[in-house]
Amino acid sequence: MNGTRTTDTDVVIVGGGFAGVVAARDLSRAGADVLLLEARDRLGGRTWHRNSPLGRPLELGGTFVHWLQPHVWAEMTAHGLELEESPGVDEAYWITGRTVHHAPVEEYSALVAPGLAAIAEGAQQAFPLPHRLFPMTEQAVAADGLSITERIAQLGLDDETADIARSRWTLSFNGSPEDASSAQALRLAALCGGDWRMVSEVNRAYTIAGGTGRLLDAVQQGSTATVRLNTTVTEVNSGADAVEVVTAAGERITARHAVVTLPLNVLGSIDFTPALSAGKQTAATRGQVSTGVKVWMRAKGRIKPFIAFAPDNYPLTMAGTEYEQGEDTILLGFGPQSDKLDITDVRAVEAAVHQWRPDIELTAVDGHDWTADPLSGETWAMPRTGQLSTEMAELQRPEGRVRLAGGDYAHGWAGYIDGALESGRRAAHQILNQLREAQ
Ligand SMILES: Cc1cc2nc3c(=O)[nH]c(=O)nc-3n(C[C@H](O)[C@H](O)[C@H](O)COP(=O)(O)OP(=O)(O)OC[C@H]3O[C@@H](n4cnc5c(N)ncnc54)[C@H](O)[C@@H]3O)c2cc1C
Repeated sequence: MNGTRTTDTDVVIVGGGFAGVVAARDLSRAGADVLLLEARDRLGGRTWHRNSPLGRPLELGGTFVHWLQPHVWAEMTAHGLELEESPGVDEAYWITGRTVHHAPVEEYSALVAPGLAAIAEGAQQAFPLPHRLFPMTEQAVAADGLSITERIAQLGLDDETADIARSRWTLSFNGSPEDASSAQALRLAALCGGDWRMVSEVNRAYTIAGGTGRLLDAVQQGSTATVRLNTTVTEVNSGADAVEVVTAAGERITARHAVVTLPLNVLGSIDFTPALSAGKQTAATRGQVSTGVKVWMRAKGRIKPFIAFAPDNYPLTMAGTEYEQGEDTILLGFGPQSDKLDITDVRAVEAAVHQWRPDIELTAVDGHDWTADPLSGETWAMPRTGQLSTEMAELQRPEGRVRLAGGDYAHGWAGYIDGALESGRRAAHQILNQLREAQ
């Protein structure tokens, strides 16, 4: 890089999801000059609350929040945001082996309990301080070496309980349980005070009244950062005194520090000079396991509230009723492999719903394939086997004036909006310290 170039700004932030936006706010509120560059034509990244052709506003990305998530909850409190409770369900459908079962939801919940409790056992010993990932305990390191599938096999559960547990964790990881670190199951339970039941509540029970856009607006309050949309960063060149960021349009911007908030699965889309450490590159190549889909569906007629679960080799591992819409019903579904389900194809999605409910007729579908999107490459970050113990510390380690931040790199609720806020705030704090030291 050119050492004589003048510094344009104190901090350049690449990416305007929750991590980038909160880092920009904290830094600029503390007096730093901040430029945020976002490739999309909107902020919010993997959260996107917008009017849907299904007839109402819907969340295409991150949605559910909970008071157990401290960074989210602090923002909600500070800005007077309210929760909305997700609608309850009466009936459950689930598949074990090739059999479709159907019963009151309480019956299904009783069957889920033993498997999920067994997997989460020892969570608080493994992660005694769940908002501080390191140093990892021996138990956490051992669990990180085992996939969810291996862990379930180890527990000696009967076939039905094992199938149900694997199906639930496939949903939580939005990817294959064969690659998913079983330490993440312990970590999530530890974040819930050791109570595995609360993990389900965090994942599904409450949304933000008015949508995640309300939280995004709240987080931006007081920020004086300059935001530039439609600006894709292609290179980050780091020197002893400054960082140079190059955009797809060829513009060169220099800053004293850079925060790069790209999801791990697309980190390789930026050329770093000097190259990122071998450890970071390996982690980026291995990527997160969460490469599934989320899809909204409009179904004909009023459907009695239900939730349905299927094993990991099905195109949808979960579907359920969410809203009444006129005379119709809006359903929400998740599948573990984006390349196995085209969420724009109403007949393909309907066929996936028919695995449980052949009586349901879909009239329209809506969603965004975050896995296929070159600006995300994944849905919510969930770690591969070995990632927490062998890759995460290195991902969190700054390289010169460049540091990674984002939900993918958080200590606590990694993979969630809360983790993005935590990581963005942490990066801002560390850079502010460095800026002060340099004064
Ligand atoms: C389908 C789905 C469901 C989810 N459900 C939940 C949930 O219920 N609850 C929850 O808490 N979390 C959920 N999450 C996860 C949550 O949305 C994310 O963890 C969080 O939003 C990540 O924020 P981030 O800032 O770290 O990353 P991102 O939001 O991905 O932000 C990164 C930004 O960088 C931009 N970018 C990428 N490349 C470049 C480039 N080269 N130049 C410039 N900009 C670039 C991207 O466009 C993006 O805006 C879900 C996510 C998905 C996709």
